[in-house]
This record gives sequence, structure tokens and C-alpha cells, in this order.
Amino acid sequence: INITLVAGARPNFMKIAPIVHAIQKAKKEGKPLDFRLVHTGQHYDKKMSGDFFEQLNIPEPHANLGGGGGTQAEQTAAIMVAFEREVMENRPTLVIVVGDVTSTLACSIAAKKLGIDVAHVEGGIRSGDLSMPEEINRMVTDSITDHFFTTSEIANSNLRKAGVPEARIHFVGNTMIDTLMAQLPKFKKPEGEIFEALTPGNYFVMTMHRPANVDQEHSLKAMIDAILEGTGGLPIIFPVHPRTAKNLQNIGITAENLLMTDPLGYLEFNYLVKNSKGVITDSGGVTEEASVMNVPCVTLRDNTERAETIHLGTNELVGTDPGKLKPYLDKIMKGEWKQYQGIPLWDGKTSERIVSKIVEAYL
Ligand code: UDP
Repeated sequence: INITLVAGARPNFMKIAPIVHAIQKAKKEGKPLDFRLVHTGQHYDKKMSGDFFEQLNIPEPHANLGGGGGTQAEQTAAIMVAFEREVMENRPTLVIVVGDVTSTLACSIAAKKLGIDVAHVEGGIRSGDLSMPEEINRMVTDSITDHFFTTSEIANSNLRKAGVPEARIHFVGNTMIDTLMAQLPKFKKPEGEIFEALTPGNYFVMTMHRPANVDQEHSLKAMIDAILEGTGGLPIIFPVHPRTAKNLQNIGITAENLLMTDPLGYLEFNYLVKNSKGVITDSGGVTEEASVMNVPCVTLRDNTERAETIHLGTNELVGTDPGKLKPYLDKIMKGEWKQYQGIPLWDGKTSERIVSKIVEAYL
């Protein structure tokens, strides 16, 4: 069974690392499995890509497609062309794509058109919001996926409603949480002066990179002002995504307690999340990690494709209106927040289940 595993952007690396390790383990145990790791090059700088390979012990990719930069269509096209060539040369049994980034969409289309089976890890989740490129990536990918490896009952039910036969839906859990659990003992405080004075439970972590929040300078400024107002002067660590950096510079916000930094490594970022008073974010993955670590989390979006983080986790959906934020932050400040109740199969063993299912299906 020859598997081609695709990764392209930051949130992919945490999702593929444990799958790579599970394949390596199965291979060692004598299962007839092998893999090629293909990096599409969607994220290429060290802080958004290279560092994660080191920290998460992901082997050097067998191929790098260099498909970064450009508009959505330019990037999709460049990755499709390069991945088509990659797949024609190597003819895998199965292509595995993860998550909802441009590479997920581009590689699944290129593979399927060459008659190769496609497995989608994190298939079936939906926000219903077609203004987000990620939702389009999910819908298109799932329309041609053969094996859906799902994170939640909600995803299963979305797929059933879309007419996907039961035999193709594999409810396995969340590989991003495999990585979280495996790496937890290695979390470390980031080096640097701004982090030195932080004490557990006395600071916030925030991330923002969705176009709805960061592309308009006035709304970005209004949201940061609301965050500063609601967090009582506590330090706010803000690792700035490349997408956000330029507009942030233009609005020129300075506040003594707003501690902006480059994107952090995985072990450092999650060290900070784990020990924080709360997380303010528009990320999807961060809401999952905060939930499992039982850290209060507010999401600056009008919808989420990860509703289980709200029903069973520590996440609340605030929306993109800065005026709505204060009551949520007040609750976090007072220590009145819901506790993590456990999300089924988010137990650190998802990647093993995925590999077993693949062996079952193809052997
Ligand atoms: N992350 C990180 N360093 C940072 C910010 C985030 O390692 O400075 C990790 C985070 O722990 C999670 C992933 O990046 O595993 C989330 O990626 P992102 O927010 O870019 O994507 P999304 O989940 O919104 O698609």
C-alpha cells in the first residue's frame, strides 16, 4: 500500500505528524505500507513551516512542490500542476489530504482525476459560511473523497445527510490532538524578554488571521481595542500571522501589555496556551487544543465548523462585532467558565485507527 501524504500549511503539519509516525510504526511491524510525504510549499517560511518539521519530528518531505504565493486561483493551479506530475510519476494506492487549506483542495482534485483514491482526514466538518475559502475547500474535497476520517459525530451526520455511504465514513477522532498529547510533556516557555515576567493564569494568548478580522484596518483596530479593554491590563501575547502583520503595522497600535511577536513554535505556543488565563482567537485548531487543555477560549467568528468545541469544550462563539466581546472576557476574568467535558475519540490514538482502517481497506 503506497500512500502519498500531503501537507502544505501550518495547521497541516500538526495533523500529519502522528499519521507519519503511525505509518512508520506499522511498517516496522511488518505491514506492507509505505509513504511519500509531499510538501506543497503553500507555507514556506521557517516560522510557518520548517520549525514544525523539527519540533514534531516529521521527516524531510520526499518532494517539495514550491506552490506558495499568489492569489487563491494561482496557488491552486500551481499546486495542481505540480501534484499531478508527482502522482503520475509515483502512482500511489491512496492520497491522504488533511484539513481545509488550498493544498487539500488542489491535491484531492489532481489525484482523483488520475483515478487515485482520496482519503480526507478531518472530512465532513462544515461552517456553512461560503465567504471563507476553507469552507469551499472542505465542500469540494469531500465531494470527491473516498475515505472520510472524521473528528466528530457532527461531521458524520453532515456526511450522511449528503448521502455518503456509511462504509466510507470512519469516525476516528482528531490527529491534531494526537500531536497535542504526544508533545505535552515537551512544552516549553519561549525564550525572550517579553515572556520572562509571565506567570501561570495571569496573561492571555491571542491569534488572528481570518480575512474577516484582519483585512480591514478599522475593524482590526476596533477588535484589538475591545480586547485591551476587556482584559484588565493583563499581558496579551499576540504571535502575529504573516497575513495580519502589514495591517497591524499600519494601524500602529501600541499598548504596554500587548506583546506582539513572530509566530511561535508549536511547543512554545502551546506552553503559553496551557498556562494562560484564556485564549482569544479566530483559528479553528487553536479552539480544539484550548478545549482539550481546559483553557477558556473565545472565538472571534460568526460560525464554526467545530461545534463540539462549544458543546463539550471550552470554546464560545463571540462573533466579529467587537461590541459583543466584553461580557465573555468578564466571565473569564472572574474565573466563571465552563469545563472541558471530553470529546469522544480525541484520545491521542486517532492516527493508529486511521492506519488500521487503511490496512483493512487495501490489504
Ligand atoms: N500555532 C503555533 N504557533 C503560533 C500560532 C499557532 O504553533 O504562533 C499552532 C496551533 O497550536 C495550532 C495551529 O498552529 O496547532 C493552528 O494553526 P492556524 O491557526 O494557522 O490554522 P487554523 O486552525 O485556523 O486553520
